[in-house]
Amino acid sequence: MEKTSKNPFRSYLWMIFFVLILVWILQALKGNSTNYSYGQLRDDLNNNQVTAAQITPDASGNAGYIMVSTKTGVQKLYVTDVTEAEKLLRENGVDATVRDRTLVNWITNILLPVILLAFVVVFILSALMGPGPGQSQSNRMLNFGKIRVNITNGDGKITFADVAGLKEEKEEMAEIVDFLKDPGKYSSLGARIPKGVLLEGAPGTGKTLLAKAVAGEAKVPFLSISGSDFVEMFVGVGASRVRDLFEEAKKRCPCIVFIDEIDAVARRRGTGLGGGHDEREQTLNQLLVEMDGFTENTGIIVMAATNRVDILDPAILRPGRFDRKVTVQRPDVAGREEILKVHARNKKLSEDVDLEKIARTTAGFTGADLENLLNEAAILAARENCAFISMDQVNNAFIKVGMGAEKKSRVVSEKEKRITAYHETGHAILFHVLPDVGPVYTVSIIPTGVGAAGYTMPLPERDEMFWTKSKMLQDIMVTLGGRIAEEIIFGDITTGASSDIKKATKEARSMVTRYGMSDNIGVVCYDDDDDEVFIGRDLAHAKSHSEAISGEIDREVRSIIDDCYKKAKEIILEHEGVLHKCAELLMEKEKIGREEFEALFSVQA
Ligand code: ADP
Ligand code: ZN
Repeated sequence: MEKTSKNPFRSYLWMIFFVLILVWILQALKGNSTNYSYGQLRDDLNNNQVTAAQITPDASGNAGYIMVSTKTGVQKLYVTDVTEAEKLLRENGVDATVRDRTLVNWITNILLPVILLAFVVVFILSALMGPGPGQSQSNRMLNFGKIRVNITNGDGKITFADVAGLKEEKEEMAEIVDFLKDPGKYSSLGARIPKGVLLEGAPGTGKTLLAKAVAGEAKVPFLSISGSDFVEMFVGVGASRVRDLFEEAKKRCPCIVFIDEIDAVARRRGTGLGGGHDEREQTLNQLLVEMDGFTENTGIIVMAATNRVDILDPAILRPGRFDRKVTVQRPDVAGREEILKVHARNKKLSEDVDLEKIARTTAGFTGADLENLLNEAAILAARENCAFISMDQVNNAFIKVGMGAEKKSRVVSEKEKRITAYHETGHAILFHVLPDVGPVYTVSIIPTGVGAAGYTMPLPERDEMFWTKSKMLQDIMVTLGGRIAEEIIFGDITTGASSDIKKATKEARSMVTRYGMSDNIGVVCYDDDDDEVFIGRDLAHAKSHSEAISGEIDREVRSIIDDCYKKAKEIILEHEGVLHKCAELLMEKEKIGREEFEALFSVQA
């Protein structure tokens, strides 16, 4: 029975079977004729052999059977007319009792068939629509094409207070919260509120959390779904799911629709990657139609998360769609400490646990990594039956989690951090000093997770039609700056600068071969490739110039690089004080902004 108890309909089946068999047996017993006959009854009556009788009419009320007690025993007799039999018995002075069978008859004639029928209907229905995988009670057939949307009603459980760090990101979201709270305020002024916000960032940096917090702050419903849920085996299902999703959303206006892993649907169309996925295109088209479709300010804000903006279809980034892009970055030291504090709230930490110290040693960790770290420590503490989580347990958890995190983000050693700090400062100083490039916007040594140990970012560029020769040279100098700083400080160089070197070389080469910026080579184009369309193009490419020219180009490129290197090194040496101070500051804070960076120069002056 244990096996069948899993599925109640199995046991119903058995019950029906059992009842049917019972009915059949009863029927069979009823139909059985006995040896006792009407003639014998008459004889017995005439001989005064009958002492008592009990008449049991059957369902029809006419026929039935009589239990006849004679002096030799009890006999059973079927009769076609019970009233006649009763009369006969009474005439012979036998007091026959007639059993009232109306209730029994009612049950067997009406109730039983109805119940049986109900069972059969239920059974057939259940067989048709049996519970599908992952759907406990909803049924597969009726839900074909429907999505599993996670809906949280505006309970305001997760708020910005739960999102640690991410200060700038939260500021950007404040406006959306404000809009969701009071859409009328904006629409009365005719302001157009973004329909879509694209959250970009490494997995675990808190994109989902941030979106939930926006819904929580505004106390609006939060509908979430993963992009991969749209992509199905069957063509058209994805598109219909998108439609369903927005149907749901419209019922709950204002609300937030959150699409995780949007890249699963919104990958660049027509690249042929993934075999020109027809289904995905239809789904994406439907998504765009829906986003274009809701009239302005209806109060649905779509938030989508991805860790790769570059592979998204440009159509999705157009105004009126995802026109806001928010980059959610890996946290810096201060951010990590805050995140640790948030997750330490519900954990019992012993006195010696130093969250600041943990924050320091976890460069490159995301919020999810940090949460995981504390959780592992708690598990270790529980396993060792401790009342509090000790620093040792955190350290052990770090080894465990760190190895896992290494695959994703790399745990950075103190030495690597130092090298990166000087490297990035090298770039930054040149950005600042050279006139045509920069100014520096941020310098960071937080690993980006795409292979770079840090980055130095100038302010967004002004649109320029063309670059001057001197700007190109300065750009090369900036690019070499990281490597130069490493050389000055450590007297040794690392492999970390290889992409810088490649970039500088490429730039120098195009100065020579494409832009005619070299005096020795002259104003000749030796680079007749238009665009790098085909992989392997360089391999098959027939050179349009002689070996001699080739050699000269190489020499020229070399001299540009050498020249830039020398000049850049002089500049950096001139500002060696800043180099040290900035590197120290970076080691401490991991990320510094423009003001902080520029202040270092004024102190020196
Ligand atoms: P993503 O959507 O970017 O992959 P999530 O938002 O799902 O990442 O984050 C996973 C978990 O990591 C969250 O549930 C939370 O516990 C933790 N987390 C990430 N970032 C933060 C943060 N800034 N503050 C607090 N917790 C965070
Ligand atoms: Zn560099």
